[in-house]
Amino acid sequence: MSYSEILLDNFEHPRNPGNPAPDDTGRGIARWPVCGDLAAIFVKVEGGRVVRFKHKVTGCGVALACASMYSTLVVGKTVEEALAITPDQLSDELGGITPTKMHAAQIVVAAARSALTNNLLQSGGEAP
Ligand SMILES: [Zn+2]
Repeated sequence: MSYSEILLDNFEHPRNPGNPAPDDTGRGIARWPVCGDLAAIFVKVEGGRVVRFKHKVTGCGVALACASMYSTLVVGKTVEEALAITPDQLSDELGGITPTKMHAAQIVVAAARSALTNNLLQSGGEAP
C-alpha cells in the first residue's frame, strides 16, 4: 500500500509545527518506544475552543503527518469535538495508514487528548 498525496503533503509541509509557549493551557506527550516516535502537543484553549495547536514530532514520518492533520482538524473546534477524534478518523483523513503505522495515529491522539484534558482539568484554575 502506498501513501496518499494528502499524507505525503502533510509530511513534507507539516501544518502547525511549533514549540511550547508560556500561555499554553495544556501540554501532552506520548511515545512509541518500538521505533522511537515521540509526539509532543502544546495547546491553547480559550472559551472552550482550541485556539492554538502546536506539535513537535520525531520518529516516523507518518506520525508527523498525523499531528499535522490533527492540527488542521481541531483549531477552532471545541475541546469536546477535538477529544472525539480517533486514530481511525485520522487515518481516513490522511487517505489510509498501514496497520504497521497505526501507532503513529495512536500516539498523536494520545498526546493531544492529554494536552486537551490537562486543560479541562485546569479549567477555572491556574494555568499549568
Ligand atoms: Zn513509528
